[in-house]
Amino acid sequence: MSIQYDETGLAGSFGSFPKSFDYGAEEPEVQSPSSSDKPRILLMGLRRSGKSSIQKVVFHKMSPNETLFLESTNKIYKDDVSSTSFVQFQIWDFPGQVDFFDPTFDSEMIFKGTGALIFVIDAQDDYVEALSRLHLTVSRAFRVNPNINFEVFIHKVDGLSDDHKIETHRDIHQRANDDLADANLEKVHLSFYLTSIYDHSIFEAFSKVVQKLIPQLPTLENLLNIFISVSLTVLILMYTTSQTCMFLPDAEALFYFRLMQDGSGCAYDKESLATIKLNNTTVLYLKEVTKFLALVCILREESFERKGLIDYNFHCFRKAIHEIFEVGGVSSLLSEKRNSSLKFAALNGSIL
Ligand code: GDP
Repeated sequence: MSIQYDETGLAGSFGSFPKSFDYGAEEPEVQSPSSSDKPRILLMGLRRSGKSSIQKVVFHKMSPNETLFLESTNKIYKDDVSSTSFVQFQIWDFPGQVDFFDPTFDSEMIFKGTGALIFVIDAQDDYVEALSRLHLTVSRAFRVNPNINFEVFIHKVDGLSDDHKIETHRDIHQRANDDLADANLEKVHLSFYLTSIYDHSIFEAFSKVVQKLIPQLPTLENLLNIFISVSLTVLILMYTTSQTCMFLPDAEALFYFRLMQDGSGCAYDKESLATIKLNNTTVLYLKEVTKFLALVCILREESFERKGLIDYNFHCFRKAIHEIFEVGGVSSLLSEKRNSSLKFAALNGSIL
């Protein structure tokens, strides 16, 4: 098949995968010391399975209905979402089937730098061919890089009844793992997700894929837990501006976040915060952590009376987040409690 890049300036059009193919072009590598850590996520699957739609809806705010008009392409679309996401990574959207037996296909180059491989299967279609393609892709990628996370999106499930969804999930899971077992590849782990661009499921699934690629995640979760315990917040959500929820994402979370966004798509006022009283007992409090990340607290009204304390803890939290991500992630920060920024204040006045 003919494969091309869809990024003017990065590489031209190619009839195939020439040796000189500019796969990586890890552009800012020289300028940014952290760019070598930027994980790469591959989107693969049969043509028309929904790969480009997923990418456009999740990262470019395209409405699901607009994807009906997406043109099919035979180019690799390489999307660096660093400028729209808190977590830096690149997505490579592959055009339909890749011919692994084409000698010009440089699987070493492609799979070596890959953190996650998402394989999209159209659940509304006959998936026999997709399953054999999945097997071929996974076994080839695993041989090159056994550290890749293999993620299978059983996609377009909006057209399926609940029973049908469960059955399709079970069947695909079974067959894909049987194929791996037959090839003595039992140690390859596949994760499965039921997804659709017409509801929150695609955001939730992508969020889980990305979370696995964040080395600082345990530290971040610790920070969130401390924040929750000292600020008497019942639930905290963190979001990127692209509306991809990074943590604790669920339908309720997305609903709240969208509730807090005004018509212009901006969730904050000029002081980078927003407050909404939901009912007599609950308050939503949103504050900007970084340009791409917001912290949304859902808390009881009486806790919100001590807003100064919550703001103080938020200040500590934000400082710690900046340190963790700018310095490159130090999971010992919390356990050692040696950093002044981690002196959260509890409602009872004690300092943690
Ligand atoms: P690609 O060739 O894998 O990139 O597939 P596209 O992204 O071009 O999508 C092919 C078709 O599937 C388009 O008409 C999309 O609107 C449709 N599609 C994508 N995702 C979904 C989904 O979750 N549900 C439904 N019903 N259709 C979808």
